[in-house]
Amino acid sequence: MAEKGILLIVSGFSGAGKGTITKAICNKYDNYALSVSATTRAPREMEKNGVDYFFLMKEEFEDMIRVDALIEFASYQENYYGTPKEYVLKNLAEGKDVILEIEVQGALKVHEKYPDTPMIFVTAPSAKVLAERLRGRGTESEEKVQGRLRRAVEESEFMDAYDYILVNDKLDDAVEALHRIVRTEHIKANRNSRLIAEIKSDLKQYVNG
Ligand code: 5GP
Repeated sequence: MAEKGILLIVSGFSGAGKGTITKAICNKYDNYALSVSATTRAPREMEKNGVDYFFLMKEEFEDMIRVDALIEFASYQENYYGTPKEYVLKNLAEGKDVILEIEVQGALKVHEKYPDTPMIFVTAPSAKVLAERLRGRGTESEEKVQGRLRRAVEESEFMDAYDYILVNDKLDDAVEALHRIVRTEHIKANRNSRLIAEIKSDLKQYVNG
């Protein structure tokens, strides 16, 4: 049976590049699985149902809440976003490190349920760079960009609650930094109680002959 994987929370300002980082780390290393969220927001151009999100009607999303099919959900810019339970639990059991790319309200809920979950916050190097990246996307009106920047001001209040702050300046460096965090999490003593017990017992047998 595979060693259980780690659940990871990756949050960050819209435009900070967390989606790019999480996709890149999954392409580079095969131990990761990226949870696909459900949302009621409309798909952006190029987004595919079942790949980027499960795009649902409000009623369908509320059904998922009712049958307890979500690990967490939150409302963001007047839409629902939530993490379907089944995929996450299946991949963790198969030994994958499962990344939840979610906003702060959802992150705090997951952390309450699973306190061992490392929380990583992705930021651009500065507010100016963040605003440039949001405008550069070209997918959203200036009004929506302003809404996302205002939301960033609110979200920045929660940065201290996170375990790691990942500055996304160069993509490759950010991917490697995230991978190092995960490797470090894997060797924490509290995740290795079985190994510790084996070594203790092994040592006793060795000494006592
Ligand atoms: P976007 O509309 O830009 O794809 O995402 C908006 C925000 O919703 C982002 O901060 C993203 O991380 C967050 N988000 C995406 N999926 C989920 C989810 O399943 N749960 C929660 N709580 N937030 C999510």
